[in-house]
Amino acid sequence: MIKPGQVIGIIGGGQLGKMMAVEANTMGYQVIVLDPNPLCCASSVAHRLIVASYDDEQALTKLAQLSDVVTYEFENVNYELIDKLAKTYPIAKGYQALKVSNHRLLEKQFANKLGIACAPYRLVNNLDDLLIAIQALGFPLILKTCTLGYDGKGQVKLNSANDIEACLELINQQACIVEKKIDFDYEVSVILARGYHDTLVYEIPRNLHIDGILAQSLVPARLSPSLKTKVIEASLKISEELDYLGVMACEFFVNDDAIYFNEMAPRPHNSGHYTLDAYRKNQFKAHIEAICGYRLGSEKLQQNVLMLNILGQDLTKVNNLINKQELTNYSLYLYGKDEAKHNRKIGHLNLYGESIKQLNYMKEQYFGGEDA
Ligand code: ADP
Ligand code: MG
Repeated sequence: MIKPGQVIGIIGGGQLGKMMAVEANTMGYQVIVLDPNPLCCASSVAHRLIVASYDDEQALTKLAQLSDVVTYEFENVNYELIDKLAKTYPIAKGYQALKVSNHRLLEKQFANKLGIACAPYRLVNNLDDLLIAIQALGFPLILKTCTLGYDGKGQVKLNSANDIEACLELINQQACIVEKKIDFDYEVSVILARGYHDTLVYEIPRNLHIDGILAQSLVPARLSPSLKTKVIEASLKISEELDYLGVMACEFFVNDDAIYFNEMAPRPHNSGHYTLDAYRKNQFKAHIEAICGYRLGSEKLQQNVLMLNILGQDLTKVNNLINKQELTNYSLYLYGKDEAKHNRKIGHLNLYGESIKQLNYMKEQYFGGEDA
């Protein structure tokens, strides 16, 4: 067990690293964060910040030497480096999940091997591969880079042959996969925390993405019991197969009675931010507890939550919200980013209420936009 007073090292000081550090602090741990930006979100809460790039071996080694356990806030950390460090230093158990989640092809092959369906896909290394895949799968398709994609970046939508040219730039850069666009009813994610002793599975959120970026998550998702069982069982299988420790998110498309695994993240996740207000133990605390060896116990959903992401361009909406003093029943989280860039997440808003109807009404009043 990693005990209070000991040191938790976090690779990445963005909002997820910051919220992990806050919970670790609250529990009595020391926190060291590694991030290339001296003004990163977590810089305001870490005991110590190592300013270095994520693949700076010397800096990562220093972080690992100073820490009793090392975790990370995103999946695009260099797996080979982490694996090398793990031979000598205490990297949180189950980091092998990074190898799978880092690479869309490995990720899908891994899921398929476990009997979990994904959207039909093909590997694309050149134009010929793409043309063969189009023949086999038909339009509409989505081309995605195998590595380093996030928030819909590194993707091209293919609705017809006219879109092929737009794919060439990505294909020439790196290996890609092309997958069938699923005409889903909605998207969900499973947020679970796997500890040494037990696993905590949170209520499933229904997620809405706009332009590939998560816009909102609604809890509960109003899933049928059979669909709920399917997505939870698939996610548990994934976390068990990887013998993973900590919080993991698995994203799925739901179409009628079918589920399609999209991707996973072996870390706390944006679509799990509702746990900050819907549960007594949020995903960040559960993650710290899991990697430190606590028993996680069972947790009950305390209230319905609609989480709305706040992007750089939403600052006026936030100011309007704060100025309207009559509005209540919300928690506002702003990450303290040094810049409010367009389409970059700078915070989120959790609305809570008795019914989903009420949450939708609040959303319109507080933030505008369509129903969840
Ligand atoms: P990222 O790593 O950027 O989150 P995703 O693969 O999750 O990449 O894609 C972002 C979003 O794009 C998804 O949440 C979904 O809304 C949409 N999307 C991605 N792949 C598909 C697909 N095969 N069918 C339908 N929609 C998709
Ligand atoms: Mg995604």
